[in-house]
Amino acid sequence: MASSPDKDLPKPSNFLRQVIERDLEQGTYGQRQWGGTPGDAASHQAGEPDPARIRTRFPPEPNGYLHVGHAKSICLNFGLARDYGGICHLRFDDTNPEKEDTEYVEGIKDAVQWLGFGWDANGTSHLYQASDYFDFMYRAAEYLIEAGHAYVDEQSPEDMRANRGDFSKPGVDSPFRSRSIDENLQRFREMRDGKLEDGKAVLRAKIDMASPNINLRDPALYRIKHAEHHNTGSKWCIYPMYTYAHPIEDALENITHSICTLEFEDQRPFYDWLLDRVAEGGLINTPHPRQYEFARLNLTYVVTSKRKLRQLVDEGHVSGWDDPRMPTIVGLRRRGYTPESLQLFCERIGVTKADSWIDYSTLEIALRDDLDPKAARAMAVLDPVKLVITNWAEVMGSDAHLDPCQAPVHPHHPERGMRQFMFGKELWIERTDYEETPPKGFFRLFPGNKVRLKYGHVVECTGASKDADGKVTEVQARLVPDTKSGTRGADAVKVKGTITWVGVSDGVQAEVRLYDRLFSVPQPGTGEKDFLEELNPESLNVVAGFVEPSLAKTEDNERVQFERHGYFVVDHTAQPYRNLVFNRAAALKDTFR
Ligand code: ATP
Ligand code: MG
Repeated sequence: MASSPDKDLPKPSNFLRQVIERDLEQGTYGQRQWGGTPGDAASHQAGEPDPARIRTRFPPEPNGYLHVGHAKSICLNFGLARDYGGICHLRFDDTNPEKEDTEYVEGIKDAVQWLGFGWDANGTSHLYQASDYFDFMYRAAEYLIEAGHAYVDEQSPEDMRANRGDFSKPGVDSPFRSRSIDENLQRFREMRDGKLEDGKAVLRAKIDMASPNINLRDPALYRIKHAEHHNTGSKWCIYPMYTYAHPIEDALENITHSICTLEFEDQRPFYDWLLDRVAEGGLINTPHPRQYEFARLNLTYVVTSKRKLRQLVDEGHVSGWDDPRMPTIVGLRRRGYTPESLQLFCERIGVTKADSWIDYSTLEIALRDDLDPKAARAMAVLDPVKLVITNWAEVMGSDAHLDPCQAPVHPHHPERGMRQFMFGKELWIERTDYEETPPKGFFRLFPGNKVRLKYGHVVECTGASKDADGKVTEVQARLVPDTKSGTRGADAVKVKGTITWVGVSDGVQAEVRLYDRLFSVPQPGTGEKDFLEELNPESLNVVAGFVEPSLAKTEDNERVQFERHGYFVVDHTAQPYRNLVFNRAAALKDTFR
């Protein structure tokens, strides 16, 4: 099978590759030890030289299914690790209690693997969960208090907000900022021991209430939340803030390059401040990880926010997370996308430091480029009307006679053999291939015109029957003798049009689901309207068609190109499942707009 386009080309460089190459050249992380599992400075220093030249991570919150934006992050993090002799960790960022679900954990693992990546390396699974680090996070917090870098603030949330100031106004120190270390320690332990209610106190870093970067105005490290956690149960009633937890997770896992989306750029100074302080205490391995930001993927005509995707599912606007119109990885997969096509897409869009929207057609082009050299070809009629050959018995001897025809499985791969199907007196053709009065430039069926039925014979149209409403119920034609494709002299009769068809005798009935964009505007939810009002009411069109017999035994997930119609995938999970169900992954050309 041919490999994907672009596969053998050198990968285009980008700012992240340059950073990594520079670090490798300078040996920035060359001296690090790895303790075999995530851990503090002592456990790593007791270990071996780190076998991974770099460590990256993909850190999803297990609160939904992954979408195409996550695919970009997965391809980036796992791809960089693969290309530079590194290891990429899959880390469930489950520091927020109440929200996680094992269904999502399994879904995320499945998506990463389906995309072609894994977290096993050197006989070790690098699958981690951030909640396993709660003990260390607590210890680091006590250290920060002891070193004078953190304090327990008991201002009301309103005062805290007001005293933070804004872009034009410096913040005001909390009256609790000057508490003694001992008092802070005692109060923090009381928070931990459940003596305070939710919202009554937070642990804050002591940095600078006048910093021009608001994220450095004594950010919160821990909050009180009396809630069960799926991993740690009721052990904790204080939970670390994301901005505190994330750098520590990276440090414990020996991450070298912590890659995140641009909205975290303003957090980078705090990321470094925190890890510098914790490293001063000798608690984490050094040199500590560094954060790098790239532009998140925005794809036109869909939404890439888990919250909005969940709303589409919960409110029944789609059939589920795996609805083929969804930009989720499970949805794209059911739609017919291949792992290779998504990898190709991610490579082509690259990584940049400026936010932009990628046109949906870029995704479809990657799919076509991947499938064109691979997908078996087949004929299918999606809007069928019967074509009757009125002189069939005259030419063939009897109306019952069937004439075997064949076509290559793939036009560029003769080794893949031929498909067989029957030509006969009655054939299914596309309704749009007949016009009683043809518009200019129409070369298909109209009375008096000759066309070739692809891989079959030339016929001359004689007319059509209609019902009371004027709808065509049957088209008639006469077969032109000695014109069968592949026989001598077949081309003696010149025709301007060729149409596809499926035999009535051996055609297989199929349900075909044609999809259009999920939203009718390019950037849903970015204007005045609620994104739900911008859903495309015609995003799904189900038709009853016929496909050639070679498709009767198609495997689930097998992708085929229906000549003239695009790329389709067999969907055995479709409900209700009667006959064959095909999803259209993409049309052959961009017909949208
Ligand atoms: P959402 O906003 O959809 O809920 P998230 O960022 O909260 O997404 P996480 O589970 O926290 O979802 O994300 C895991 C990783 O995927 C993060 O490192 C995040 O930067 C990355 N990621 C999420 N969305 C995108 C996107 N649209 N483009 C690129 N990377 C993304
Ligand atoms: Mg998130």
